[in-house]
Amino acid sequence: MAAFALLWLSTLLLLALLVNAADLYKVLDIDRSASEKDIRAAYKRLSRKYHPDKNKDESAEEKFVEVAHAYEVLSDPQKRQIYDRHGEEGLKAHEGGHQHHANPFDMFQSFFGAQQGSQTRRGPTSLMEMEVNLADMYKGASIDFMVKKRILCDHCRGSGAASSADIHTCTGCNGQGVKIVRQQIFPGMFSQSQVSCNECQGRGKIIKKQCPHCQGAKVLDHTQRYTLDVPEGAPEAHEIVFEGEADESPDWEAGDIVIRVRSKKDKGGFRRKESGLYWKETISVDEALLGFERNLTHLDGRTIELKRHSVTQPGYVQTLKGEGMPIQGESGHGDLYVEYNVVLPRSLSPQLKQKLAEAFHGDTAAKGKDEL
Ligand SMILES: [Zn+2]
Ligand SMILES: [Zn+2]
Repeated sequence: MAAFALLWLSTLLLLALLVNAADLYKVLDIDRSASEKDIRAAYKRLSRKYHPDKNKDESAEEKFVEVAHAYEVLSDPQKRQIYDRHGEEGLKAHEGGHQHHANPFDMFQSFFGAQQGSQTRRGPTSLMEMEVNLADMYKGASIDFMVKKRILCDHCRGSGAASSADIHTCTGCNGQGVKIVRQQIFPGMFSQSQVSCNECQGRGKIIKKQCPHCQGAKVLDHTQRYTLDVPEGAPEAHEIVFEGEADESPDWEAGDIVIRVRSKKDKGGFRRKESGLYWKETISVDEALLGFERNLTHLDGRTIELKRHSVTQPGYVQTLKGEGMPIQGESGHGDLYVEYNVVLPRSLSPQLKQKLAEAFHGDTAAKGKDEL
């Protein structure tokens, strides 16, 4: 009796050691309040990261197993509740002392659908163009956006069946997905051809009871929020890749979402050409002739002084060194080019006309005209 108790105790200790009491939330790098979607997203990200096929780090496999275990517990509302209240010990007690662990590799496979490895089929890449404010490309920005996509049904994990017991091997083709059809072409002469099994549509499996969650569709429509990190000085058509975030399907490993960023064309705002910025400033005749000081608000809100002390010709372009776009990957900035547009007044008061005439012609011209 005592020996049995001791053995039982040591088994427990061994289990406690095996499943190191690392906080499962920390393993998935999520809050305790994380939603089911957050948990799913975290598993997806980390299991890819640590999959030993992709990650050659020595500790990767261990991490991969930990991540799978954390997901197994936290994705199951009942297990999660027990874990939240009583920790790993509570889970062990719940499962009668011996915890059952799903094979982390099977879990990965069922989660991502298609087999991992060399013959993995990848789903289509989803390319989206996004217009952002030029200021966001100047300063860098985090922009939230939503994407409508298809995800594997989380009830049946993409099998389309109510439970795994509802998936039966097709009897028409013995699970092969194909049938051999013998046809007599002449008496005594047959042709054999392989055709896709019509009973299971070539899948080799028949689902007796459809998943109530997705009605057998295997995938669900889903809207997911992402955060786009636009780097400072991002070039036009800069691409940001969200790996494996495109439509999911049991037939493939999800492709990437690629966001191609361009700046919005604001009327009257800053224009950009590579690292150069362009601005059009309108000045009056007196400013064009006598000089001026004006303030320009830059893309980051700073005030830039536009100053001229001599005559400014219409169309003149002033270069402000280093006030252009940040050059990505380098420390410098391009230049800012300010083009001046001069507007003439619509009409002149007689007094102003007189004064201008005096200033330009020493008043004789004005008099001469009056005399005509
Ligand atoms: Zn389903
Ligand atoms: Zn079949």
